[in-house]
Amino acid sequence: MKILVPVKRVIDYNVKPRVKADGSGVDLANVKMSMNPFDEIAVEEAIRIKEAGKAEEIVAVSVGPAKAQETLRTALAMGADRAILVETDDEVEPLAVAKILKAIAEEETPGIVMLGKQAIDDDSNQTGQMLAALMGRPQGTFANTVEVDGDSVTVKREVDGGLETVKLTLPAIVTTDLRLNEPRYASLPNIMKAKKKPLDTKSPSDYGVDTAPRLKTTNVSEPPVRQAGEKVEDVDALVAKIKALGIA
Ligand code: AMP
Repeated sequence: MKILVPVKRVIDYNVKPRVKADGSGVDLANVKMSMNPFDEIAVEEAIRIKEAGKAEEIVAVSVGPAKAQETLRTALAMGADRAILVETDDEVEPLAVAKILKAIAEEETPGIVMLGKQAIDDDSNQTGQMLAALMGRPQGTFANTVEVDGDSVTVKREVDGGLETVKLTLPAIVTTDLRLNEPRYASLPNIMKAKKKPLDTKSPSDYGVDTAPRLKTTNVSEPPVRQAGEKVEDVDALVAKIKALGIA
């Protein structure tokens, strides 16, 4: 079985995003970019399935600018076998990504497409679901546990207040949640080896996909600034304050 892992290059999760002065979006100039954290979890899970002898090949794919090569090299250094960069400087929306992934999945015929549950830049949480719908495949979203067994995969899903277990017939789409695993760090020797692993470069038009945006961002704004707290002398003063506010 082959596993296809889509990885997105996004603003690093440690960076505090700055909104552009004209409110048209987030300022990405000179900002550290990294692999979307949920996609690192997807790469890790694919590697674990391969290490368990249940997959033979892991193919990482990214849709984005030339620099997304770095993200793919990270996936290769972690343990993916080869990579495909679908190069575009356009901002690509989830529907276009899903259409490109569908075309790649039709060529590559993976048993599982393992995506992150959401990209932390646009927080869409749509691509995996759209891909499953476009391909008519079963989907296990928000995976907390993934177990491949023969021609099926059992996914424990994180739902409000607990876990839901679903069994999907392969080929299937899985999206990863935070608690699925802890991704490994790539070792230096593996980073060196990753430089020699194959990386194909394509364009959206190779897959017949028009990436023109369907959505227009009308405004992006900073969250309201939090009011400073107040220190009180003792518990009695705290209780008096709360009473004065009419909370207790
Ligand atoms: P989203 O629907 O944008 O929140 O993204 C969900 C998941 O889809 C991500 O965690 C990635 O696995 C995948 N994905 C989204 N955009 C891209 C992209 N440009 N390139 C590769 N994978 C992507």
